[in-house]
Amino acid sequence: MIAGTRSINYLRISVTDRCNFRCRYCMPASPFAVIPHHEIARYEEILKITRLACEMGITKVRVTGGEPFVRKDILSFLEQLCRMDALSDISITTNGALLTRDKIQHLLDLGIKRLNFSLDTLDPEKFAFITGRDRFDRVWDAIMTAHDLGMTPVKINTVVLRGINDNEIAAIAALTRRFPFHIRFIEYMPMGDSHMEKQQQVLTSEIIQILETALGPLFPMPHEAGDGPAKKFEFKDAPGVVGFITPISSHFCSECNRLRLTSRGFLRPCLLNDYEKDILTPLRNGATDDRLKEIIHTALQHKPLFHTLGKNRPVDIPVSHMTSIGG
Ligand code: SAM
Ligand code: SF4
Repeated sequence: MIAGTRSINYLRISVTDRCNFRCRYCMPASPFAVIPHHEIARYEEILKITRLACEMGITKVRVTGGEPFVRKDILSFLEQLCRMDALSDISITTNGALLTRDKIQHLLDLGIKRLNFSLDTLDPEKFAFITGRDRFDRVWDAIMTAHDLGMTPVKINTVVLRGINDNEIAAIAALTRRFPFHIRFIEYMPMGDSHMEKQQQVLTSEIIQILETALGPLFPMPHEAGDGPAKKFEFKDAPGVVGFITPISSHFCSECNRLRLTSRGFLRPCLLNDYEKDILTPLRNGATDDRLKEIIHTALQHKPLFHTLGKNRPVDIPVSHMTSIGG
């Protein structure tokens, strides 16, 4: 699939807007309603849209949420996804709290070898403050179990927040000296009404400075297919990788190869722009495969060449929250 000069081969599927956590940077500050069940795309509908997208060039899928493992029967959905021959790569982004050893083994048996965990702190109390849940031990166990069972690479996403976890940047990155983990520091993106202030954002240049002062030089690594927007570095002799995801300080829009399918069955060509195209209603109304493919094509024609987040223009900040889009 083509959008402008970009070739789109990556579909990010949010299977639910629900989550067992309440991360302060992700959830809206005001009370919010969850999407009614009948408005959420059913698994067979998601599979149908994915199949059509594969016929148009999608080869990689990432499953996300909300928290994907809170949705009932997620493993059987993943099993069906794994049967799609056109998909060469299936990965999942999770907070890890519901991932028992058995579930991780099940994922490996299905052929899913890549998990991205979200972990913003190594301090259980701070973990409870950020996520609203006292689940640090469970998440840490899930990360170590994934590593022990042979998931590779185990990726850890850390959103850096000034005054909250910026004093742990070095300790978190130092995990790459002990384990072959990919730690990816993400710049906080202000999304609609949030518990966080824009001033709490820490940009990558500052994170790198903190890391090099504490741990020594970071050496750039070559960009490989599958790295997505992360810029990768390593410390000398470290088995792991330190990555930076820089939506604010350095647009990666011109290289963005992804399309999103939200839990309500809307195609969203850009995370940071609120344009969405409903594909679920036409599917439910009996649209032909050709018509549905046209809808996918139309959505992609709205993929912007750059976003305006970070330019301090509140009018441009999308009102949607990560839980409903999938990050
Ligand atoms: N619940 C799963 C998890 O936490 O990994 C998957 C969904 S979550 C929305 C996907 C990713 O988005 C997580 O890595 C999370 O840290 C990131 N995220 C959420 N809100 C964010 C924000 N405002 N700025 C930057 N990253 C954010
Ligand atoms: Fe839930 Fe993930 Fe958002 Fe945290 S970041 S509230 S775990 S969806």
